[in-house]
Amino acid sequence: MRDTFLPFHRAEVGDTEIEAVVSTLRSGWLTSGPRVRAFEEAFARSVNASHAVATNSGTAALHLALEAAGVGPGDEVVVPAMTFTATAAVVVHLGATPVVIDVTADTLCIDPEAFEAAISPRTRAVMPVDYAGHVYDVDAINDTAQRHGIATIEDAAHSWSAAHRQRPVGSLADVTCFSFYATKPLFTGEGGMATTDDAIVADRIRLMGQHGLARQAWDRSGSADAWYYAVTAPGFKYNMPDIAAALGMEQLPHAGATRAARERIALRYNEAFGALEPLETPGAPRPEVDHAWHLYVLRLRLEQLTASRSDVIRSLREKNIGTSVHFIPLHMHPYYRDTYGWKCEDLPVASSEYERLVSLPIYPAMTEEDVDDVIAAVTEMIAETRR
Ligand SMILES: *Cc1c(COP(=O)(O)O)cnc(C)c1O
Repeated sequence: MRDTFLPFHRAEVGDTEIEAVVSTLRSGWLTSGPRVRAFEEAFARSVNASHAVATNSGTAALHLALEAAGVGPGDEVVVPAMTFTATAAVVVHLGATPVVIDVTADTLCIDPEAFEAAISPRTRAVMPVDYAGHVYDVDAINDTAQRHGIATIEDAAHSWSAAHRQRPVGSLADVTCFSFYATKPLFTGEGGMATTDDAIVADRIRLMGQHGLARQAWDRSGSADAWYYAVTAPGFKYNMPDIAAALGMEQLPHAGATRAARERIALRYNEAFGALEPLETPGAPRPEVDHAWHLYVLRLRLEQLTASRSDVIRSLREKNIGTSVHFIPLHMHPYYRDTYGWKCEDLPVASSEYERLVSLPIYPAMTEEDVDDVIAAVTEMIAETRR
């Protein structure tokens, strides 16, 4: 057993990132400025999108994307049950109604048939989540959305560096929203990005992310009439600071290496745990998908174990391995359950799979020995609790 605790996640901050942040601090321009503009342009290019707008969180990007899609009171937005609260909360912020649907058992991504069945005349948008970094069923969801005139707003918080039929995430949906939260594959501490090919949508997202100001600070700076600004809408304060952009810019060229490092760990886990009958591994992604492997989610065959999921998490903690659970489905949280009356029996896959999910550490800062330690701890835990 290892004698130090292996955290569930640790961000790897290199010297070049530290230097980039320090030089930003020395530049005297801390808020959104030249580094944000450069990051947006490089990011858009890297995912084959025409436009990218940086935000101060993934949640902000989702909020702005829905706003730009015209979502408001009276509208419905379809969301999967297996996600973080942010996906649905932004729908509520706009006065619209989230409609929760189930996920498919293999990927835990939004179920295309359930989507089709949930569509009403009031459905304005659908928010597929690339759960764990596995791209959603693009062919089926986009086709249905297009036929019904519904906007696709992809929650790509987990899937930077992933692709579908060789097309990068960021160019698959009407708007793609990334999160650069500390634990995400590309991190800026806090931050996010919305990408789109629609210039009008991109302009609206940019406008509403900075107070609805027609000319923003960096565009105004240096000109003789820099003092002048015009408020054209009651916008939000969602812009990314240059300090965060400097951090993101350093990671951007390493998408392939980051993805490969995570995939290597996933393959080792799949091989080791595939041999243990009480465990179900995520296995290989669907053939058309390059998986980002933000999360490695094991599923326990609880009927073969004497331990509950909580016991398993506790046992791994005692063996110095940090784990987590992604996610407690939306309908199991008091707010959504009580406000919308969402029920477990209407969302059978998310409800039953939730009970047996455990996320293991998977990040580039892990050494081979760290991976060995996780495999040893899980194998030992199974031996101790097998029926
Ligand atoms: C992290 C996350 C978000 C929110 O991103 P923030 O940058 O923390 O606002 C949204 N959706 C999913 C699925 C996430 O995991």
